[in-house]
Amino acid sequence: MIMSKSVLILPGDGIGPEVMAQVRRLLDRIGGFSLSEGLVGGAAYDVHGTPLADDTMAQALKADAVLLGAVGGPKWDSLPFADKPERGLLRLRKDMELFANLRPALVFDALAGASTLKTDLVRGLDLMIVRELTGGVYFGEPRGIEDLPNGERRGINTQVYTTSEIVRVARVAFELARKRDSRVCSVEKANVMESGVLWREEITKLREADYTDVALSHMYADNCAMQLVRAPKQFDVIVTDNLFGDLLSDCAAMLTGSLGMLPSASLGAEDANGSRKALYEPVHGSAPDIAGQDKANPMACILSASMMLRYSFDMAAEADLIDAACQDVLNAGIRTGDIVESGMTPVGTVAMGDAVLAAMDKRSGG
Ligand code: NAD
Repeated sequence: MIMSKSVLILPGDGIGPEVMAQVRRLLDRIGGFSLSEGLVGGAAYDVHGTPLADDTMAQALKADAVLLGAVGGPKWDSLPFADKPERGLLRLRKDMELFANLRPALVFDALAGASTLKTDLVRGLDLMIVRELTGGVYFGEPRGIEDLPNGERRGINTQVYTTSEIVRVARVAFELARKRDSRVCSVEKANVMESGVLWREEITKLREADYTDVALSHMYADNCAMQLVRAPKQFDVIVTDNLFGDLLSDCAAMLTGSLGMLPSASLGAEDANGSRKALYEPVHGSAPDIAGQDKANPMACILSASMMLRYSFDMAAEADLIDAACQDVLNAGIRTGDIVESGMTPVGTVAMGDAVLAAMDKRSGG
């Protein structure tokens, strides 16, 4: 377990600073963290002329965990590619070598009606998608667009995975499954892709060597997309490559009904002390349409902080407390605009933060 608990907070743009302010209150209440704050995205560009200053990158590499709000907005849309706010986030992911992206799809009982699927199908849903983030067809070589002698053009991308890339992300999935329901479903297209055959073989080998206590199943990616909307509760942990993970995690996200509720984590390799580089961030963007109006739902960012406690700091009790407090607030009908229904109490960002803090205090007898 990490003892220092240093956290670099990068609120970013738009609603980022608003939702992060609520997270800070929570972390202050729990105590024991060494928090520092930096700029990323458009906010960093405005001050440093770059979406992530070298100094901030160095701080991120030193921190035990990084918590990010969101980046981007119309103010910076016309900047050249290299200066765009999103480049700051991409640099963080790249330089921290974050190869495993964790996207939970959790349906709070009180919000089951907000899903586009039938309530029965999603009530109690709690699945985790582990997506390989730094390899596969998005990075494989050769790539490009070339002119052919016959006047046609050809676009090329290459799906490529090595044993070590597969094994390290699979290990993350197996370890996570051990803390959940001990079931991993590995997803590829081994029926039509050699990279999928290798993926299946390596994961099977790894399970037999180190994780016989975890149940492993295999599924083709097209079937997985169908199963996610047919019977999503059959899954515990899904592990898949970069491309399939991109699609399937967005599909799973929609099962939950609201962008304002979805956290994520991206993890790097374990060091000699058993700790990993880690970046935690809500799935949503900077929501410029509601920025600065006290309308944003801070729960996705709060739940990202809860993931940080669970996965970077081994603070399961505190993470459980935050998750339960969010559940209590939703059960009490307290809602920001994105998840409000008739008969509920509409609140703003700060009041939502107040409510979560009060629910934590109540549960811990404070
Ligand atoms: P978005 O997620 O910012 O917003 C989509 C819609 O959901 C908007 O109507 C917004 O008001 C709403 N919404 C999002 N988060 C919410 C919250 N916490 N509470 C209440 N409502 C919420 O996506 P977008 O509009 O496509 O993109 C806006 C900007 O964010 C763009 O510049 C985009 O590039 C950037 N972006 C950044 C990230 C990131 O930082 N990881 C991710 C996606 C988009």
